[in-house]
Amino acid sequence: MSQYYDRAQDALLHAYGRFDITFDHGQGVHLYDVNNKEYLDFYSGIGVNSFGTAYLEYVEALQNQLHRLMHVSNYFNTVETIEAAELVTQATHLSQVFFTNSGAEATEGALKLARKYYYLKHKKADSEIISFMSSFHGRTTGSVTLTGNPHYQEAFGPLINGVKYATFNDLQSVKELINDKTAAIIVEPVQGEGGVHVCTKEFLTGLRDLCDQHDIALILDEVQCGMGRTGTIMTYFQYDILPDIVCLAKGIGAGFPMGAFVANDKFAKAMEPGDHGSTYGGNPMAGCACKTVFTLLKEKDMLQHVRDISEYVIEKLDDLKEKHSCILERRGLGLMIGLEFDQPVKPLLQECLDQGLIVINAGANVLRMLPPFIIEESDVDHMIDILDQAICKIYE
Ligand SMILES: *Cc1c(COP(=O)(O)O)cnc(C)c1O
Repeated sequence: MSQYYDRAQDALLHAYGRFDITFDHGQGVHLYDVNNKEYLDFYSGIGVNSFGTAYLEYVEALQNQLHRLMHVSNYFNTVETIEAAELVTQATHLSQVFFTNSGAEATEGALKLARKYYYLKHKKADSEIISFMSSFHGRTTGSVTLTGNPHYQEAFGPLINGVKYATFNDLQSVKELINDKTAAIIVEPVQGEGGVHVCTKEFLTGLRDLCDQHDIALILDEVQCGMGRTGTIMTYFQYDILPDIVCLAKGIGAGFPMGAFVANDKFAKAMEPGDHGSTYGGNPMAGCACKTVFTLLKEKDMLQHVRDISEYVIEKLDDLKEKHSCILERRGLGLMIGLEFDQPVKPLLQECLDQGLIVINAGANVLRMLPPFIIEESDVDHMIDILDQAICKIYE
């Protein structure tokens, strides 16, 4: 183990099982560690760095903002944050946005908004929320309760009351849980941490209908799959539905820590001054980051590129699947891709890292890729070469 590994173990709380790699800098789709070893980044810091590392226009925009204005609190307006909010509401086809600093705060805020709507309607605070098994919505006490993974919850009770878990892609299991107290259904259009599972069209449109019938909130958690990752700015546009509330983070700041929950008129109206807040949320740096993300996505025609390059990645991965029987399934949308193996992928990830490729798991047997949007065919070929060799070495 390196000296950095030991120092990190000494000084940082052991909440993560970290790899023994210490990064120093990056450029585009490449990262470099302290020994100047090059890595091809097919991970983007968990689907955050949509433009890779040190993208010039992004760096310049944030640098300018840093010199002008960094923080003023939410009791005042800044042009950056207003413009960012307008871009977010236009892009989502929803009405009003609350900026947060993370994804967990976004799901937490969405939960509070749905509960507030229920409270105004029923004059009591006893609402229930339906979430899904193997979902992921964050690590705060509220968001970890929404996260349908006992492993993340076990030690941290008592959790919040009234959350029930249905089965992903099983509409009947949801119907069985709905009652007069249900305030919201929260779901990821593509489950990320849970193993890269994509909502079927029938399921997601079915949830929309259920929420309409019962006047409850459909909350879509697009923290990982949103902001262009699946080839459209919001994944729900591929299902021809709109949510009542959408949660965003990760790619919305593309490296600057931020998130958002965005609501339609009906739900936005439930929020009143004093109901919710955040000291940093949507400060002018975050506003600038978000604005720059939208500008670059548009100017560089990035969503079209995501769709095109995704086809190429999928074609190559399907070839790889043909070659190796240990790959059971290739799943995902756009540049959010999972490969399910017939055994744990941990040793494979380590071998890829040794060979200079960053990929990650999603559950024990699923290898997950969340490359930056700027990858080219040559990067895909390079990734396939490394992965192919690693599979041969580890499994065959
Ligand atoms: C990452 C993630 C979150 C939590 O975001 P943080 O910024 O880590 O709090 C919530 N929901 C989904 C779908 C995520 O992928």
